[in-house]
Amino acid sequence: MGKNKPGYFGEFGGRYAPEILTEALEELESTYNKLKNDKKFKKELAYYLKNYVGRPSPLTFAERLTKEWGGARIWLKREDLNHTGAHKINNAIGQALLARHMGKKRIIAETGAGQHGLATATVGAMFGLETIIYMGAVDVKRQNLNAKKITMLGAKILPVTSGEATLKEATSEAMRDWALNVSTTHYIVGSAIGPHPFPTIVRDLQAIIGLEAKKQFRKVADKLPDAVVACVGGGSNAIGMFHEFIKEKKVLLFGAEAGGLGSKPGEHSATITYGKTGFIHGTKTLIIQDEFGQIVPAHSVSAGLDYPGVGPQHAHLAKSSRVDYRMVTDEQAIASFLEVSRIEGIIPALETAHAFYVAKDVAKSLGKKKDLIICLSGRGDKDVEEVLRIMAGGGAHE
Ligand SMILES: *Cc1c(COP(=O)(O)O)cnc(C)c1O
Repeated sequence: MGKNKPGYFGEFGGRYAPEILTEALEELESTYNKLKNDKKFKKELAYYLKNYVGRPSPLTFAERLTKEWGGARIWLKREDLNHTGAHKINNAIGQALLARHMGKKRIIAETGAGQHGLATATVGAMFGLETIIYMGAVDVKRQNLNAKKITMLGAKILPVTSGEATLKEATSEAMRDWALNVSTTHYIVGSAIGPHPFPTIVRDLQAIIGLEAKKQFRKVADKLPDAVVACVGGGSNAIGMFHEFIKEKKVLLFGAEAGGLGSKPGEHSATITYGKTGFIHGTKTLIIQDEFGQIVPAHSVSAGLDYPGVGPQHAHLAKSSRVDYRMVTDEQAIASFLEVSRIEGIIPALETAHAFYVAKDVAKSLGKKKDLIICLSGRGDKDVEEVLRIMAGGGAHE
């Protein structure tokens, strides 16, 4: 943010929320600003990250992928090994602690693939908080295992049937709930999106990914990696992975966004490639929209990347060319999903498979004796059935 107004990343970001939320956002900002440097809070957060989430997550050398791809050495930052199987819990734990400090006994969240809903339901159970998860009715169906787990953990799912009935509508519904219940409720936003201070809070809570990776890599190689790759939906695992490296100008950064089925509006979620500046869920960022400024529904084979906006800091990192964002189609992501499963013995999330596809290209162009770290944002159990269905000729879901 540097010299800019707080909450802005270059021209992007800010707080464009309904007035009814101003007080809650200001309370959250001041609580966070106090707690982020508070020794006791930091100790509390570190305690849960270690003893509940299982951090630090390992940095695994991917021997077989390195050999197969024939270029740079490949390293995997294993967020798939966290409790609940993805990076989402890093943020959910931190925000649940913030909620506790603000005296709020009810938490709500939006979810797409169900991973953030699962992480929120998990911390809701662990901290004894009433938990409501907004999930698009389409996603409840295509991510049924996660939906069932959320219920098992004692949280309540409210399926959202408006519009496309996916992540965008679930987010709008969660914001509406928050506006009505701000005095009792904290809204745990699941990605680096939304009005200030959410993009900053989520980034800071996910920054542990890159911080650990940098330390772990230095320990084994005594240098910085040459490149870092992560997939981008709203952008939380990517910004968490990038944060420590942005200032290291020699480290090349790559983001993988969902190219879906093609380049026509409605066929993809490639916000950075095709998006234009606009406003979504309280922030100014790049958005997939038509010529009249209407938001166009996004598509991706991976529910977690299926969002027509992107975190404002990514819009800025794209505009300033610090990060190279590339598009990966559904078909390419599925090919990487299968390749990584068979070659490395790790079934990645379909979201993460997008990052692997970009990493393969980057590794080849970097060449041998270089090092590339991939953020392995989550495991792919939730996607196995969907991939088998598509391979059997079922076609991508709507
Ligand atoms: C949610 C999710 C993503 C996409 O969200 P970001 O906020 O862009 O990180 C990526 N990978 C996995 C495994 C996820 O669960």
